[in-house]
Amino acid sequence: MINRQDLASYCSDYLSVSQFDDYCPNGLQIEGCKKITNIISGVSANLDLIERAIDEKADALFVHHGFFWKNEDANITGIKRNRIAKLLANNVNLFAYHLPLDAHTEVGNNIELAKKLGIHNPTPIGDTLVWQGEINTTLVDFSQTVSQVLNRTPLVFGDDNKQLKRIAWCTGGAQSYIDHGIAVDADVFLTGEVSEQIPAIAKENDIAFISAGHHATERYGVQALCQHLSDKFDLKHQFIDIDNQV
Ligand SMILES: [Zn+2]
Repeated sequence: MINRQDLASYCSDYLSVSQFDDYCPNGLQIEGCKKITNIISGVSANLDLIERAIDEKADALFVHHGFFWKNEDANITGIKRNRIAKLLANNVNLFAYHLPLDAHTEVGNNIELAKKLGIHNPTPIGDTLVWQGEINTTLVDFSQTVSQVLNRTPLVFGDDNKQLKRIAWCTGGAQSYIDHGIAVDADVFLTGEVSEQIPAIAKENDIAFISAGHHATERYGVQALCQHLSDKFDLKHQFIDIDNQV
């Protein structure tokens, strides 16, 4: 059991929240009960996840995609009202960590994806959110690994037989960061989403491209964070996957 405020402070320090200039607030977004023993993790704070967390009698819900994004309507109306109302009515705390959870070197989305996919020597590229590492396989074989690990068929651009040694990746909707992969001479760039212009950009730069799912690539950071919190503070933890094909 831990106090809400102690948990918020611990996470802020552990994830170095103050070092990030993000598109949303990172930390306790909705205040619920004071004492926390039962936590649920999930990717995005949609109504399905909130209702499942309430069914599981969660004291706190941890997500990667929370509320209050820059440029969104600040008014609490419509679906935002419905989501927040459920959390408040059930005294469930909502903790959201966006970029700090992508970047973290122990429990972040990028390092966790590297562990799942068997990427060696994973390291961030300079101060970008993109990582690089080593694999030794072909594009077709690596795509199969991605498909098995993430339980989803990725969109793959490039020659099946291309030999892959250096990989660059960034979880989520980071297709525009392909330039960082090109800059380090990566053989393949992997992210969660793709845009229309990307296949040609990849082809003309001789880099393969894998779009493996925004949701699918970002399942693992929040789980690892909550497992860490569960071990450290003796909390009950469960990850709930609200499936999303994107
Ligand atoms: Zn994301």
